[in-house]
Amino acid sequence: MKNLLGGKGANLAEMAGHKDLKLPVPPGFTITTEVCTYFYDNKRQYPSTLEKQIKDALAQVEKLMGKKFGDVKNPLLMSVRSGARKSMPGMMDTVLNIGLNDETIQGLIAESGDERFAYDAYRRLVMMYADVVIEKAGGMEPAKGIGIRKIMDERLEEVKKEKGVELDTDLSADDLKKLVKEFKALTKKHLKQDFPETPWDQLMGGVGAVFASWNGKRAIEYRRIERIPDEWGTAVNVQAMVFGNMGNDSCTGVAFTRNPGNGENKFYGEYLVNAQGEDVVAGIRTPAPINQYSKNDHSKNLTTLEKFMPEQYKELDEIQQRLEKHYKDMQDIEFTIEKGKLYMLQCRVGKRNGVSAVKMAADMYKEGMIDAETAILRVNPNQLVELLLPMFDPDIEKTHKVIAKGLPAGPGGAVGRVVFSSEDAVEWASKGEKVILVREETSPEDVDGMHKSEAILTTKGGMTSHAALVARGWGKCCIVGCSEISIHDKEKYFVTKDGKKIKEGDWVSLNGSKGTVYEGSLPLIDVDLNKNQSYKQLMTLVDKYKTMGVRTNADTPKDVEQATYFGAEGVGLFRTEHMFYGEGSDKPLFLLRKMIMSDTEQERKSALNELFTFVKRDIKATLEVMKGNPVTIRLLDPPLHEFVPHDKAKLQELSKELGVSMSILNRRILALHENNPMLGHRGVRLGVSYPEITEMQVRAIFEAAGELQKEGVKAFPEIMIPVTCGRHELSHQKAIVDKVYDETLEKLGVKKIPYLYGTMIEIPRAALKADSMAMVADFFSFGTNDLTQMSFGFSRDDIGGFLPKYLDLKLLPGDPFVSIDQSGVGELIKIGVERGRKTKPNLKVGICGEHGGDAESVKFCHSIGMNYVSCSPFRVPIARLAAAQAAI
Ligand code: PEP
Ligand code: MG
Repeated sequence: MKNLLGGKGANLAEMAGHKDLKLPVPPGFTITTEVCTYFYDNKRQYPSTLEKQIKDALAQVEKLMGKKFGDVKNPLLMSVRSGARKSMPGMMDTVLNIGLNDETIQGLIAESGDERFAYDAYRRLVMMYADVVIEKAGGMEPAKGIGIRKIMDERLEEVKKEKGVELDTDLSADDLKKLVKEFKALTKKHLKQDFPETPWDQLMGGVGAVFASWNGKRAIEYRRIERIPDEWGTAVNVQAMVFGNMGNDSCTGVAFTRNPGNGENKFYGEYLVNAQGEDVVAGIRTPAPINQYSKNDHSKNLTTLEKFMPEQYKELDEIQQRLEKHYKDMQDIEFTIEKGKLYMLQCRVGKRNGVSAVKMAADMYKEGMIDAETAILRVNPNQLVELLLPMFDPDIEKTHKVIAKGLPAGPGGAVGRVVFSSEDAVEWASKGEKVILVREETSPEDVDGMHKSEAILTTKGGMTSHAALVARGWGKCCIVGCSEISIHDKEKYFVTKDGKKIKEGDWVSLNGSKGTVYEGSLPLIDVDLNKNQSYKQLMTLVDKYKTMGVRTNADTPKDVEQATYFGAEGVGLFRTEHMFYGEGSDKPLFLLRKMIMSDTEQERKSALNELFTFVKRDIKATLEVMKGNPVTIRLLDPPLHEFVPHDKAKLQELSKELGVSMSILNRRILALHENNPMLGHRGVRLGVSYPEITEMQVRAIFEAAGELQKEGVKAFPEIMIPVTCGRHELSHQKAIVDKVYDETLEKLGVKKIPYLYGTMIEIPRAALKADSMAMVADFFSFGTNDLTQMSFGFSRDDIGGFLPKYLDLKLLPGDPFVSIDQSGVGELIKIGVERGRKTKPNLKVGICGEHGGDAESVKFCHSIGMNYVSCSPFRVPIARLAAAQAAI
């Protein structure tokens, strides 16, 4: 019932009530997500029956606990927490210890026998209430940007200094009592409101604050990034308080049924003695490990829970095993031990990084806990990117001095320039800078900046702090609890323990798998997937389930090899023009330019003849690597003027070679200028204007394939014509192909060269005219980059100017160049496939736009019956997994 009760509420109810569990959960009740929706639909009013229902439920809790809410002698205290359908760790608000006032505190003192504890609970309530309910939910702008929480925190620090103590727990009951008074006065002074003494008002204030926090800045930001719908709303869980801070026989902790950092099947967690839950996640004190396995460099000298409270640890361990068996997935659990008695406060499916997701899925399948389908569905395809994550070259890393060490909260290597605030991270990243966000605290307010950063480094917090959870969810490199550095965020620098000063904008390198920080920028290298057994096991299952092929977009033997290693079954797009870019392209580019600048057909043909050797060489190399798997070679696509040289020396060289003056050359260049080149003289139009260009390329393809065949190597080229809009263009080019085919057979003395002839569908008209296009084509490959551009009329190259605003205003659900716009462009694709197959039922259909590597788009392609998707080499594993998920 997660939709109604939220994740937390549903799991609390299940832990408490399910016949297989019946775990010790403090009694409580859940106000449903429907109330939240009602609240926002009705000008922040509650349904009229709500108060009565809360009162009735509260009465039941009172009965179960044997205490009374607001009672002076034996007061019941309540917590109020959020809980959306999908967990949003730390993004919404919580109020604890509700029910305390100047009178009920006496009951708590009498009952706990601990005045210090009672006043500590009270001062926490006043702090949280002022911050969360009065200031945040009340929509108050903190004076001079300093919130009431910070003002109170600073006062707390001052008092600790005055008393000469380091920890909150070292303050006396009297100190805390005074603080309660002071905090109330500070509330009045800064927020112009009294702290409410009536428990009922506190409770309703807390409930309202949780609902209000659904629309808090950081919750909205998180929902936008995680694509959680605004309409879902949050539930509110009202639960009897249990105390992890009732002295040294009490504690609180967070644990995972398996290690979320590397996926190992080992119980992993942290706890704090004499503390409340928020202390662990907020990273205020360094938590201790629950067992030997959970120790790290920071906590190695701290006592484990297993040693400290062996009986309770045993019970907890037994519970975690039952929970994992029950939910059949890794659980993230919160527990509290109050005076030796264990309580479960929460359990939910634990967030994990890609590496652990793959390991857990493969392991749980092997253990027989889940079936193959579930294992495949467990891993988010995008998380696979993390397995391909770059790491530092270990040999080079060894030679660099570690300037600081923290906890390895999110794996992988990252390099970037240091910034000290979320705002700066966002601003720098928007200018294309790679940044590392360095913060003291792990505040969820930083979510936007964290998202935009290459990595996050914090001085406080543990593996379970907010920053760690959030970063892990995103597969981001993250180091927390790096207490060896001290941050001066106002002056924008930090100092290492050796006194090294790192300023804003300085480069640092982070190894999130080890928790080490280096000065400068270390080179990153790729990882060896072959060593990852879990990945191999999972992908074996994936290949059994997927029905659609996965190819790659690649144009060099090196890229093709890389893609084959990732599991590509062919090349879906070989962009011929890429041989004119980058390394080793000088000579072919020069010849291409010579061809472009030629004035007569004769001149052009002689340049093309010279170019032929290079084109054939490159095509042959790729066909050879693919060993008979299909290689779709697209004929020259871009407008010719893209290749015109701009520097003077190159122009002079060209004018000499062609034997024409510079002014004539410049005139020819000018003639190539187009106002709208994307819709200009490109794609098939080049082949129509200059059939000799098509002829040269087709000859190179056939000769390459024919020669390989003679050498005993299988080759299967697919000739693809780009930017077509109708059948006649295709027929025109086919005539050239047929002629060259016959000539090549004769030249090489072979009987047959297997090949296919097809086209890209990237103009809306082509999709609509697919029935007649299929009369000539053996295959279609949807070029969804151009198809999206031409369907929306959004320039691929200029979208940055207006898309952010569209996304902000929610005029579009996402960038249509990243994930197929299924209801618009998707309709055109559907029409294209249907009409094409009507003419030619066995028409081969694929996609080669960037969308071929986007998991959602891959699933769409499967749903409309495509034969394959094609994407860049590094996206191949993602496409394979998405294809398998689509087939389940
Ligand atoms: C496309 O348009 O989707 C495509 C693959 O071609 P290009 O990106 O080269 O225009
Ligand atoms: Mg295109």
